[in-house]
Formats: sequence, structure tokens, C-alpha cells
Amino acid sequence: IEEKFDAIVVGAGMAGNAAALTLAQRGLKVLQLERGEYSGSKNVQGAILYADMLEKLIPDFREDAPLERHLVEQRFWMMDDRSHTGLHYRSDDFNEEKPNRYTIIRAQFDKWFSQKVREAGATVLCETTVTELAQDAYGKVIGVRTDRADGEIHADVVVLAEGVNGLLGTRAHLRERPKPDKVALAVKEMHFLPRETIEARFNLKGDEGVVIEAAGTISRGMTGMGFIYANKECISLGIGCLVSDFQRTGETPYGLLDRFKRHPSVAPLIEGSEVKEYAAHLIPEGGFKAIPQLYGEGWVVVGDAAQLNNAIHREGSNLAMTSGRIAAEAIFQVKSRKDPMTADNLSLYKTMLDQSFVIKDLKKYKDMPALMHTQSQSFFLTYPELVSRAMQNFLRVDGTPKVEKEKTTFRSFIKARSWSGLFGDAFRLARAWR
Ligand code: FAD
Repeated sequence: IEEKFDAIVVGAGMAGNAAALTLAQRGLKVLQLERGEYSGSKNVQGAILYADMLEKLIPDFREDAPLERHLVEQRFWMMDDRSHTGLHYRSDDFNEEKPNRYTIIRAQFDKWFSQKVREAGATVLCETTVTELAQDAYGKVIGVRTDRADGEIHADVVVLAEGVNGLLGTRAHLRERPKPDKVALAVKEMHFLPRETIEARFNLKGDEGVVIEAAGTISRGMTGMGFIYANKECISLGIGCLVSDFQRTGETPYGLLDRFKRHPSVAPLIEGSEVKEYAAHLIPEGGFKAIPQLYGEGWVVVGDAAQLNNAIHREGSNLAMTSGRIAAEAIFQVKSRKDPMTADNLSLYKTMLDQSFVIKDLKKYKDMPALMHTQSQSFFLTYPELVSRAMQNFLRVDGTPKVEKEKTTFRSFIKARSWSGLFGDAFRLARAWR
């Protein structure tokens, strides 16, 4: 391609689509390159869509976006091998005119999102892999090289929205490869069932939806979680743990998934289903401390490629959309001033991102990833087992005086963790959470 673009966006996931759409809406000449056959063909998510962040890009998205169910209920399960202790929140307030969260299927959703990017005026080329960044003699990024015959394409700025692996950025020495203790490997299956069966099993009516997040002995003491999300005619079910934990323990993702599916709390939900899809994908889990350099001479990085993922709240796509939009707004401001796309000028992106919920939230939990990693045996094995035993002891009516039951429970906690261990865990958790 001979012509020069104002911006090239690498990747057509949540971050890339948000960036390309915003740039095109502001009248910039945008080229978006996606290696997949179509936008979404390579992308994996649970998936919860957070409406607010999409509304900022496409206010009337509810009119034609492929949405599954709006969420009226969230369940958190702390699991041991035979039971779960649950925290549920369900409210009819979530049956509002403009619901706040939806389940989606990324392959369908990204295709729709990509159509909006095209309608806004961007040129979108799929089945095109960017093989490397084109840099001038001073290291400034001036465009990209692709696997197409007509090779190098130039632009004032390149938006790297290439997802969690971020190979282009690491190959060009713009940042390090994510370390195995900073990324989780998640596997996911789609279980198809008749719509009425899903609604009966999850106590739903119409397009109401529910999500279940699960932690405990299902991850065998590794740092990780499972999830079960109800779509219209299928259930997304998956589990993920830190890559370094898989390396250390020799456990396999599909082994964990299999055990999760056979758990007595999970099996009845998917009984009789037909599995039509299986996917595996990485998730950035290093949090604030893993965020790399976000801008440089002629480039910015957004979404998962910038490790912008809030593992504590299971949020990623909203951080991706927001960082993509903010990066595009910063680029537009630099362009409007007719300033060059230097690192100094593009630092505006970081200034704006710092003021958003994206960095504020990640900063709040900056110590959580390390705590969850170093104390994974306690948080994902010991406590779930203790809590489960305590619940069973409390609920089983067998003539034992309640005082005795309380003492037994109390002693079991002290025996497993000791006084100093219990206080230490509580202190560390409170400090990392604040
Ligand atoms: P991606 O969506 O990964 O998009 C990157 C795109 O770049 C891809 O389309 C890829 O093909 C393309 N690409 C990569 N390299 C090149 C190249 N060299 N040339 C051209 N194209 C390239 N988040 C939530 O908000 N809610 C959830 O419920 C949720 N659940 C999740 C469950 C799982 C199992 C996983 C794995 C993730 C989940 N996430 C969730 C996280 C969420 O999926 C990510 O945060 C989000 O997809 C990041 O968007 P992105 O655009 O940065 O990256």
C-alpha cells in the first residue's frame, strides 16, 4: 500500500476496535490490520460485556449489537471438592431499560463491532498479520510490515492492540514479554442446551442472565478461578490459572476443567449439554506493577498488550475499550495541534489514562497479584476447605451443643493456620485490598 495513514491499528479485538472507531469518528485516516479471518475469529472471553464503556463509543449499541443475556444475578462460590459456600446478589433493579452488564459471544460481537469501525470510515484488512514494526534510523516507529506481498505501510502513529502476547512490541524491544507468573492460561468450553433448560436451571426468565465466579480447591492450590456464564442457548464454562503455577505443579488446564465440570455443584448445570467449542487463551494478571511503557516515538499500546486487566474484578474488555478510546482521543488532540507523534506528545495518552478508572483501579489492587500468588495454598486450598467444614458443622443438626460446634470450628482454623498465620493473612489481605 503506497498511501500513508494518520494511524495504523494492529488488532481488531476490543481495544483495537475502540481505538480505530474513535480515530475514524474524529475524521482521521485509519488502517486497521487483523490477522484473523474476521474480527473476533481469534478472540476468547467469558464473556461479560460492560455496557458503560461501549456506550461511550456507540451510544445506541443496544439496537443491533449481538447481546446474549443482561445480568440480574452474580454468584461467587468458594468451593471444596464436594461443596460450595456461596455469596449471591440478585436484584430486579438490573432489569432496567438500559442494563449495565451483558453476556456476549465474542466471535459474533467483534464482527458487529468491526462493522461499526468500517461504517465510521476506517479501512479494515483481515487475514493480514503484522510481522514487525517499521522503524527509522533513530528507532521511531513509522509504520508496519505485514505478511502481504506489498509489505510496508506507513503512518504517523501505530496503535498496538495486539492482545496479551504482544509479540510485535517485544520483538521491537518496546517492552518485555509477559512473565509466566504474570499471565494466566484459561480454557473454556461452550455447552449448548435448549433455552428453557438454561432458564430453569439458573432461575431466569426472558433475557435475564446470571454469572458464577468460582474459586477454591478446583484450582488445586494454584492461583486461579473458574467461571460459568449463562448465554441464551449455551453456557460458557472455563477455568484459568497462572502459567507459572501450571509449570510448577504439572497440572494441566484441561485436567482442571474436567474436574470442574464433574464437581457436584457444576455437573447438574451442564448435564445433557453438547460441547461445540473449545478455546484456550492467556489473560494478563500482573496488574499495576506489570504495566509496561505505554507510549513512545510513533506508538502507543492499549488493552491486553499493555497488561490492562483487573483480575480481581474479572474485568478486561472494558479496560481494553477504554484504553483504546483514550489513546485515540490523545492521538486526535496531538494531530489537531499539528504536532508530531513524538513520545513527549503521546505521553498525553498516559496522563489521560492515569485519570481514568483503568489506572485508578489497577493501582488500588497493586499488591493483590503478588499476595494471591505467594499465598495461593492458603487462599485457594486451606481456607475453602476450612470454610466448607465450618458450614457443614454449623448446618448439620446432630445434638452437638452449638458451643461445642463453635469451638471445633475455631480449633480447626488455628490448627490449619496458627494464630499468627490467621492474623498475618487478614493483615496482608486488608493491606492489599485498601
Ligand atoms: P484481544 O481481544 O485479544 O484482541 C487482539 C487482536 O489482535 C486479536 O484479534 C488478534 O488476532 C490480533 N492480533 C494479534 N497479533 C496480531 C498481528 N501481529 N497482526 C494482526 N493482528 C494481530 N474480560 C471481560 O471484560 N469480561 C469477561 O468476562 C472476560 N472473560 C474472559 C475469559 C477468558 C477465558 C479470557 C481469556 C479473557 C477474558 N476477559 C474478560 C479478558 C478480555 O477477553 C480481554 O481483556 C480483551 O479481549 C482484551 O482485548 P484486546 O483488544 O486488548 O485483545
